Amino acid sequence: MAGTPGPRTSIAAVSDSACEVSVRVPAKLNLQLLVGPLRADGFHEIGTVFHALELFDVLTAAPATSLTLSMRGAESAGLPTDRGNLAWQAAELLANHAGVPAQVELTIDKHIPVAGGLAGGSADAAATLLACDRLWGLGLPAAELSALAGQLGSDVAFALIGGSAVGAGRGERLRPIEDGAQFHWALAVSHGGLSTAAVYAELDRQRGPELARTAPDPAEAIASSGLIEAVASGDPERLASRLANHLQPAAITMAPYLADTLAAGRDCGALAGIVSGSGPTCAFLARDAEHAAELAAALAASGACRSALAAAGGNARATVLA
Ligand code: ATP
Repeated sequence: MAGTPGPRTSIAAVSDSACEVSVRVPAKLNLQLLVGPLRADGFHEIGTVFHALELFDVLTAAPATSLTLSMRGAESAGLPTDRGNLAWQAAELLANHAGVPAQVELTIDKHIPVAGGLAGGSADAAATLLACDRLWGLGLPAAELSALAGQLGSDVAFALIGGSAVGAGRGERLRPIEDGAQFHWALAVSHGGLSTAAVYAELDRQRGPELARTAPDPAEAIASSGLIEAVASGDPERLASRLANHLQPAAITMAPYLADTLAAGRDCGALAGIVSGSGPTCAFLARDAEHAAELAAALAASGACRSALAAAGGNARATVLA
């Protein structure tokens, strides 16, 4: 696969014991999400810059005689604990690929808001690939894990590498921004979720059938936007004017309250605000960590969201909990 990450040791640190393997895995923002033409396979060609956040789920894989999954944590309510869960699918896919029995007890400590445009399900799938690869002693190379990740979902391959990276294709063809800097964000979490597929469908409806098929390939637009240089610069003022999300108008159509959430962030002094991915989480860029904490407190007090939190982004990676 083009643009896959380098040697296995560079993509994540994973710690294991004789008994179990735990992986802490980050949520993501899209600093730009440019949507190109609808493809014959039903997916859209996209150009994006992924940005991993210091907002984590923790997945533990323990030896077992069958495949089981349990969820706990603040954001775990109502999530499937069977094949409907992306982590379950990841364990089955890896076992089938490697020709080993899918025997593992998965536990997810869920903190990434669900269906929020933060790719929490993808994060759990990536954590499962890393944890089960280690638990089952497979030692698959990074490119192989990345290819499996691409089969599970558009954002799973990025969750394997973290940091900041340019994504092409469905988002699974990645080029890490090696010198990406850290930025500080306030996240406004909504009461409900939005279906990614439904938001893309609304974008297509708004574009109309002709433009939906002929929208320009976004790879060039990403390259010429100055965003990659802004990420490398570490200057939030420079980054602020380059945030972009083609899905934002569709997300606002489906959840009109998002216009008020974005306005509240601006009123609270954010440098810029954007709907994250397919929404409805909104991300507000701050000058520094202190400003991000102030913004989160002001957003929470404004009543424009279910909750708000501050998180740094850009250097977060799948990592180990001892
Ligand atoms: P993306 O940004 O990748 O589009 P998202 O943040 O909008 O994703 P997720 O939190 O990944 O959305 O959840 C999308 C749907 O996937 C949910 O409705 C949920 O039922 C299902 N799902 C399956 N497994 C998981 C998981 N481990 N964590 C969260 N959601 C999961």
